[in-house]
Amino acid sequence: MSQFLFEPVPRAAVPVEGETAAFPVRRILCVGRNYAAHRREMGGDDRDPPFFFAKPADAVAPPGAEVAYPPRTQNLHYEVELVVALGAGGADVPVERALELVLGYAVGVDLTRRDLQSAAKDKGQPWDAAKGFDDSAPITAIRRWQGAPPQGRIWLAVNGETRQDATVADMIWNVAEIVAEASKLWRLEPGDLIFTGTPEGVGPISRGDRVEGEVEGVGRIEFQVV
Ligand code: MN
Repeated sequence: MSQFLFEPVPRAAVPVEGETAAFPVRRILCVGRNYAAHRREMGGDDRDPPFFFAKPADAVAPPGAEVAYPPRTQNLHYEVELVVALGAGGADVPVERALELVLGYAVGVDLTRRDLQSAAKDKGQPWDAAKGFDDSAPITAIRRWQGAPPQGRIWLAVNGETRQDATVADMIWNVAEIVAEASKLWRLEPGDLIFTGTPEGVGPISRGDRVEGEVEGVGRIEFQVV
């Protein structure tokens, strides 16, 4: 296509640490219920495997951006997560080769309109309005990474009070398994981001709250809800 009817909206992008060129976001996939204790706090059955849902690419809120409290919710929840940034694509990628697709990692928060999610679950309706709203994916810069994925501490605090504190190594599907599983369902491409799920301790945030979080060795996220 050589011409468009109007100037396309610029592509969503995430900075890469220490580099001028940014990471262009193609898709955002998210893993649900990837930590056993969070699966329990959400009322899940211990035998249910993790699963995927998606957010639109322009849901990312890059570092320094203010995060707007979304409309139509009385119960906005934080979920701190390790985010995988893909620099290569593939379909049906074997788990032994899955880490070859990884360009780096970031820290993200999967913001969730929990009240809309609960209503959708009750009615068997999709989660898009609960998960895929504007600014629903605050994220740090991407840190380039080779080799074994991050395994360390993951935590989140609201107004200086720690709410989530766990270990990435506790994920049910590890990074290689997540990438391999995703590639069975979709053709992955460079620019894809995968939120890998949140540990236990999710809860509400309000306008004016300051949210901080970290994945050890990857980065530290900080934003204010306005
Ligand atoms: Mn999540």
